[in-house]
Amino acid sequence: MREKRQLVAGNWKMNGLLEDGRALARDLGRLARENPPPCELLVCPPATLLFVVGEILAGSGVALGAQDCHAAPKGAHTGDVSAPMLADLGCRYVILGHSERRSYHGESNEAVREKMVAAWEAGLAAILCVGEREEERASGRAFAVVKSQIQGSIAQSAAAPRLVLAYEPVWAIGTGLVPSMADISEMHAAIRPLLPSATRILYGGSVNPKNAAEILALSEVDGALVGGASLKAKDFMAIAGACR
Ligand code: PEP
Repeated sequence: MREKRQLVAGNWKMNGLLEDGRALARDLGRLARENPPPCELLVCPPATLLFVVGEILAGSGVALGAQDCHAAPKGAHTGDVSAPMLADLGCRYVILGHSERRSYHGESNEAVREKMVAAWEAGLAAILCVGEREEERASGRAFAVVKSQIQGSIAQSAAAPRLVLAYEPVWAIGTGLVPSMADISEMHAAIRPLLPSATRILYGGSVNPKNAAEILALSEVDGALVGGASLKAKDFMAIAGACR
């Protein structure tokens, strides 16, 4: 059985100085305590804010996650952060294979797969991001692209509790564009047989308080991965409040 509660995850990306992170976390913690949403809530701040945000959100019901990790547990990897380090800070999740990492850091499916194993070994659940580019959708290759990302990025020992899939069409990220509800449902339904049964499939790409209810009402959608709108506590909580 699929986990009944939907998951709404906020990807803060490379945003926020210390005081911004503190303020956003305080607002989120207060709103989540005042009005607990009908879903699981997660925030993924930049690495520099994990410690302080984790301290502020402790006991609020909002979980902590990271945006990436290295495949090795420790060693000579200047500038990187390992999965055990993230777990040590209280992270429960780590986003892997986001399109921005695939594009700007050249991350291959194989690299993502190695990170996934490292995340699992450290006790973290992986949120694997996949999604087609505009030209791939236009040429009818959206599903083939997503399928090959899933098959190439998911490690052998995958199991539903430690894997979440985020379908994020690249052309919908940060653009205000969103696929039709039929296209989201169709892709999620097509992806499902490729995953361990019960894996949650999130939709990501320009989710905001206005479109959240329609997207999150789709029976194939198990939650949302939210970028821009997760930087405003009220907007993020409005999206969470729109869950089934
Ligand atoms: C993302 O980058 O994962 C994302 C979904 O961004 P946005 O919500 O801003 O489109």
